[in-house]
Amino acid sequence: MKKILNLQCINCGKEHKTSETDFVCTACGGNLEVNYDYKLISKRFSIGKLKDNREYNMWRYMDLLPIDDHDKVPNVHVGWTPLYRCKKLAKELHISNLFIKDEGRNPTGSIKDRGSAVAVARAVELDKEIIADASTGNASDSLACLTASLPMKSVIFAPTSVPEPKLVQLLVYGADVIAVEGSYDDAFELCKQTVEQYGWYSRAAGFNPYTREGKKTCAFEICEQLEWEAPDKVIVAVGDGTILCGLWKGFVDFAKLGIIESMPQMIAVQAQGSAAIKEAFDEKREVRSVKAHTVADSILVNYPRDAALAMQALEESHGFAVSVTDEEIIAAIPELARKANIFAEPAGAATYAALKKLVAEGKIEHDESVCLIIGGNGLKDTDSALKAVQTADIIPANMNAVRQELKKKGLIEEA
Ligand SMILES: *Cc1c(COP(=O)(O)O)cnc(C)c1O
Ligand SMILES: [Zn+2]
Repeated sequence: MKKILNLQCINCGKEHKTSETDFVCTACGGNLEVNYDYKLISKRFSIGKLKDNREYNMWRYMDLLPIDDHDKVPNVHVGWTPLYRCKKLAKELHISNLFIKDEGRNPTGSIKDRGSAVAVARAVELDKEIIADASTGNASDSLACLTASLPMKSVIFAPTSVPEPKLVQLLVYGADVIAVEGSYDDAFELCKQTVEQYGWYSRAAGFNPYTREGKKTCAFEICEQLEWEAPDKVIVAVGDGTILCGLWKGFVDFAKLGIIESMPQMIAVQAQGSAAIKEAFDEKREVRSVKAHTVADSILVNYPRDAALAMQALEESHGFAVSVTDEEIIAAIPELARKANIFAEPAGAATYAALKKLVAEGKIEHDESVCLIIGGNGLKDTDSALKAVQTADIIPANMNAVRQELKKKGLIEEA
């Protein structure tokens, strides 16, 4: 592939050809990053060309993706999710602009569809018959969806923390599910060993350099939807760190091509009980494994697999990390739904909880524009959402009972 210069190890710097390895560094096992020939790309990629492009999905950025074509990837609509401008809520929070990128609108309800789409396109190029993944849930759901109608099997290592709706999605799409009695980190290790033993393709975060590239299309869209500008601050929930560094890569790509002038500050949100990256960033040290616990299953990670690039993204963007408690996350779910009309899964609502905290702490200037990335749809984890609301009492099916219930709810005065 001409547009790719090499796959470079973020650890030792070794450069690989794309034919040399699909995953980690052959010398030291470090994660790889895709380096592009921007000079070549700039010859065929421009704002003008994008304006003429009617393909409103993630493939409109093919020139900046590490694959030659996507013709065999099932034709479900990934990307070009809405970017909402929330004027009323921005006013309430005393910030100049609040944008919400609703990634829950993707085919399987999360941003992971972007990463899976590129990984599947690559697996097709390599003629792979089996693709494996371990994930907190959403990544595997998207992989199962995008391979469902292909002559390619998805083998999923699922930890016990996966909420039922995410598990059901896997089964409905026909993935082979290996349910592991253990954490996401346990599932990750087992998946890695299996892939190495049987020569399968892997979609696993960090381990596969291509998934990050898919996620960067979310940043491209934000810039395009804002008329070729980046917001001042982008708030992202962080587990492995792939979304954070993927988005940052997108902004860097656009800056290198002269499409945007100013860069956003990246803000990582972690759950207080699962904050490996936040703790390392604050203490200016290496990322260490934590014993993670949080209701936000999508960011429940002991050892983040894309920590190095995520930390680099925070540093390069002059960003920072913030943590929120499970109580704050749960409370944010109905609040976001009622104020911005978006039902987010816990990890998505965590970004709103973080925004409120940062505004209260004066860490966001009043003239700044902020963009929240809502990574996943609330229907993916209704048990967590139920913790924040009261279920409805069941009443007898007669008008008398209806009147009493209406009175109880304060909707009428006399029953
Ligand atoms: C995967 C995921 C995250 C975290 O992404 P990482 O790349 O693991 O940091 C956040 N929110 C949702 C909804 C996710 O599915
Ligand atoms: Zn290396």
